[in-house]
Amino acid sequence: MRVKRIAIIGGGTAGWLAANHLAVELRAEQDVTITVIESPEIGIIGVGEGTVPHIRKSLMKFGISEADLLASCDTTFKVGIKFVDWMAPNALGHSNYYYHPFASPYPAGIDTTSLYLQQAQAMEFAAVTEVPGLADAMKSPKEIASAPFEGPVNYAYHFNAVKFGQLLAKNAKERLRVQHQQATVLEACLNEQGEVDYLLTQEGEKLYFDFYVDCSGFHSLLLGKRLQVPFVDKSDQILTDSALAVQIPTEAGAEIPPYTLAKAHQAGWLWDIPLTNRRGVGFVYASAHMTEAQALQGLAAHVGVPADSLSPRKIPMKIGYREKFWCKNVVALGLAQGFVEPLEATSIFVTDLAAELFARNFSLEKEGMSAASAYCNKVVAYTWERVMDFVQLHYCISDRRDSEFWRLSTLQPKLSEVLAERLAMWKFNAPKKSDFFSRFDLFDVENFLFVLYGMKYKTLEKGMTGAELQVFKQELQNVKNLEKSLSQKLMGHREWLDGFKSAYQSMQRA
Ligand SMILES: Cc1cc2nc3c(=O)[nH]c(=O)nc-3n(C[C@H](O)[C@H](O)[C@H](O)COP(=O)(O)OP(=O)(O)OC[C@H]3O[C@@H](n4cnc5c(N)ncnc54)[C@H](O)[C@@H]3O)c2cc1C
Repeated sequence: MRVKRIAIIGGGTAGWLAANHLAVELRAEQDVTITVIESPEIGIIGVGEGTVPHIRKSLMKFGISEADLLASCDTTFKVGIKFVDWMAPNALGHSNYYYHPFASPYPAGIDTTSLYLQQAQAMEFAAVTEVPGLADAMKSPKEIASAPFEGPVNYAYHFNAVKFGQLLAKNAKERLRVQHQQATVLEACLNEQGEVDYLLTQEGEKLYFDFYVDCSGFHSLLLGKRLQVPFVDKSDQILTDSALAVQIPTEAGAEIPPYTLAKAHQAGWLWDIPLTNRRGVGFVYASAHMTEAQALQGLAAHVGVPADSLSPRKIPMKIGYREKFWCKNVVALGLAQGFVEPLEATSIFVTDLAAELFARNFSLEKEGMSAASAYCNKVVAYTWERVMDFVQLHYCISDRRDSEFWRLSTLQPKLSEVLAERLAMWKFNAPKKSDFFSRFDLFDVENFLFVLYGMKYKTLEKGMTGAELQVFKQELQNVKNLEKSLSQKLMGHREWLDGFKSAYQSMQRA
């Protein structure tokens, strides 16, 4: 039997990413319709404003121009994440920070880690790339003349989540023939084979489709509630479970950092994401270790206002993923499938990749589905496990012991077998590409190096020959020189964005 009607339930970022991916893959299939069903009453989650560079590939694939993204979503550039206070203050009580940039930790392709390991007390691992210096100087990753989606520094974006969803929706509807229906689904009804047969809406309508993509957010209407696919709970690995989110207007003319700030506190961390016109600030915490009132105090202190002047949105977070992401004639994507707290902006990344994986393995012939679903389920579960490892890494290797939260996270962490094995290995040898044997290790040696040694993880020193020492020192000097020349060449981040805005507006008027 051939699939002809596909429903995507949910019009958040996941729903519209899925619509674009599917529509691109199925563009030649004239008899197939894709319909996004969105409740007019249940809103989208409205957070999810930090991304990783992979999003550029998807936008190009969908045919969305970078100029439209920049002009319509209050978009700014993100060259990485600045982690503040993830380690204990030093003996003088000074705070600390490190960057996880979207950059290679191998200057000119050379692994200089042994030089860092020999000088770990005196040297910051960040010296292996020019990006932290440029980020501190608030430089744009692009030049004025850079081609769309390119720049001398690798980057992703921060954007307004609601507007980003609208941009994806416009593209899917206007360029890719995706249909859009407003309806609240009350129930999914099953046929004799236990597959979803039709959706019953609040208005009493029965909507029949052959295949269903559940993007209903934390409701997980089809995969979780109807098909009862078990949830793999990871709250014992990652203790944070709540967030308070607010939006703060940006001061006119103020510099715009080209990075996400991730600042640790006693029971979690807070994000500060700059857009062109406002900041999105969120206080992530473990409710077992901090009350909501304390979290509000912490959020207000960061924003620099009295706590009673803020009315943040409280967002409970369920950490974990559905055991299968594809079950019978249902696939779930986005929050309906899984979620880990927002450190490292993993959610849109995983959703985007899983949507692409699904779209590329999807067969319109129902007989082709069982092999594809078995394969995709393995891949997505593996992906989640490794993403959880990477997020947990930021907590478990810290030397903070100033609260029960940090003592639990560092002294008795529950680690996956893989992370435990890797951390044990990396005490004696620095991470190598070959430690990451799957391409579904979304965060690999490059990302781990920045976090491990940004946090001063202790690996046994490795000897170097005199020649190696000379080459490594020269390469680090080259990085410094590059930083200096780029710093002269690149404009300030705000200046670039303001310049773009005026040029775009003049073009629209012309
Ligand atoms: C605190 C927090 C911070 C985050 N920060 C980041 C970040 O910086 N970077 C990142 O990558 N990700 C982040 N995320 C995750 C990100 O928000 C999500 O991945 C993204 O928004 C996708 O959400 P979604 O589309 O799955 O769900 P939602 O946005 O919740 O959309 C659900 C959709 O389903 C529809 N729906 C629900 N029930 C029904 C029904 N019965 N009938 C019809 N329609 C229905 C709703 O109308 C809505 O359109 C964050 C998440 C949280 C909780």
